[in-house]
Amino acid sequence: MTRVFWRARRVSRPVAAHALLLLAVLLASTASIAVHAAPKNQIKTRVLILGAGVAGVSAARALNAHNITDYLILEAQDVIGGRLKQAQLGDVKIEVGGNWVEGVGGKTENPVWTLAKKYGLKTIKTNFDDRITIKSDGTLDTSDVADEWEEKFKKAQEIVADHAKRGLQDISVRTALQMAGWRNKSPLHDLYEYQASYPEIDYEYASDASINSGFYTADGDTFEEYGEDNYFVTDQRGYKLIAEKVLEEAKATTKVHFNKRVTDVAYDKSGVTVTTRDGCTYRADYVISTFALGVYQENEVKFTPALPEWKTEALYKFHIEDYQKIFLNFPYQWWSNHTFTLFASERKGYYPIFQNVMAAGYMPKSADGKRNIFMVTLTGNEAVRAERLTDAQIIDEIMAVLRQMYPKQTIPRPTAAVIPRWKSDPLFHGSFTNWPLGMTVESWENLVAPLNKRFFFSGEMASLNQFGYVHGALNAGAETADQVAQCVKGKCPRFKYYPTGLKACAQHATTLRRRADGPRGHFVMSTGQQGVEM
Ligand SMILES: Cc1cc2nc3c(=O)[nH]c(=O)nc-3n(C[C@H](O)[C@H](O)[C@H](O)COP(=O)(O)OP(=O)(O)OC[C@H]3O[C@@H](n4cnc5c(N)ncnc54)[C@H](O)[C@@H]3O)c2cc1C
Repeated sequence: MTRVFWRARRVSRPVAAHALLLLAVLLASTASIAVHAAPKNQIKTRVLILGAGVAGVSAARALNAHNITDYLILEAQDVIGGRLKQAQLGDVKIEVGGNWVEGVGGKTENPVWTLAKKYGLKTIKTNFDDRITIKSDGTLDTSDVADEWEEKFKKAQEIVADHAKRGLQDISVRTALQMAGWRNKSPLHDLYEYQASYPEIDYEYASDASINSGFYTADGDTFEEYGEDNYFVTDQRGYKLIAEKVLEEAKATTKVHFNKRVTDVAYDKSGVTVTTRDGCTYRADYVISTFALGVYQENEVKFTPALPEWKTEALYKFHIEDYQKIFLNFPYQWWSNHTFTLFASERKGYYPIFQNVMAAGYMPKSADGKRNIFMVTLTGNEAVRAERLTDAQIIDEIMAVLRQMYPKQTIPRPTAAVIPRWKSDPLFHGSFTNWPLGMTVESWENLVAPLNKRFFFSGEMASLNQFGYVHGALNAGAETADQVAQCVKGKCPRFKYYPTGLKACAQHATTLRRRADGPRGHFVMSTGQQGVEM
């Protein structure tokens, strides 16, 4: 994913009417809270971190750096790592969640890569060019569609940059591509849009080009700042090792309360009360929540008072997509040794990317020859659709695709499979966030604005320029903890938000900044509306 943002620097004018309105909103939101005596066994702490994924442990480490040690972490599962998660397939463990350290080799070192090196995480650099493409009639692609894509995609990026320069509105990636002359006129064209020689639209964002914001897809911090290389984690200790080590660095291994699924959050001006499914309650001055966006979208946690409209609108406006990696173990390896085998299906996104997990440097072959893993990825609506099927139905679909790809071969049925379901998992309801067309910086500010400066929204979705990534989670957790640390010290920062809603008639202003340390422009879509400060 390649996205870069810059927030328009706007001087907030103190508008008396807005301030009064805000006061009314805050009074109304707190007036309905009944004052109850604290339950006897309530646990009190200064800061409560919700979730022990990468963002949660990163927040813990940052609090520690601020000499704040009066905090606890509540985690619904009995493991650290959240969306960095392993599953057993035969005699090996595979990564069902985040798999790559994305953005390596640039002028700034990706902090996840720093940790990976420090703790010897086993990875392999992915060569996305090591691939073959099979057409729907089972023959190999020898066309020049790849070159056509490279040319048109570059032009589309220039069109988006030009829009930003001229102060025009955001456009979808599909619109930019069409303006550049690209047409999805064949299954091969669909496929190259889905995944070119570099992770491109659907395969990277888990979402169709018509949905993705041009401004947030066409260019970005991750690869620009951290470098263009991606490393696939093969370590049997798991990618979650990063989270475990950050927790150790935070000296917080005893601060995690496992199997504590949060069901209720009551917030007021003086703090937050959190209730877990087993009936325990916790009272904290501040809460740093790192839940995935889908957890809020599906109302897995009940807020009292109910979340205001400006917050729910932002939570629903941002996207959390579905990205499903299906791992299949076959009795023997019958596919090519290339890292990727792509399939140009008549139906866009229908089991399009097969990855050879047995390629040189990936999983070692087992002595008995029984370990032969082929991974296929689904994204977006196709992933959501497949999640509703049974494992057997999904495998039947894949077998039919493989027979179409290899009409002259007899393909054995897999001996084992791991089929994750992120969208329907109540602890996530999706895989990672994505910036849709129509989302503005103001919407994002509403998304992350803390409730009463007591309940803070963090996690990967709260990283303005690296949402969706492991490093985004790491950075966001630390940034939110820095803000909370200031609050603990009585110097809470100001947060801009838009309690009266986002105006359609606001001046539309797109701003482009040329960063001193970067060769390309960084742009952002802003409505130009003045917010109020809390
Ligand atoms: C399939 C998939 C592929 C991905 N691929 C990559 C990749 O290759 N590279 C990359 O950089 N990123 C990738 N990502 C994204 C990356 O994994 C995430 O951005 C990152 O791990 C999110 O960390 P987090 O701490 O913000 O959230 P999470 O990991 O979601 O942590 C939140 C924690 O909160 C817990 N929780 C949820 N609800 C409750 C509740 N009610 N009560 C208590 N606890 C609760 C969860 O169990 C979880 O541990 C991928 C994600 C998925 C799912």
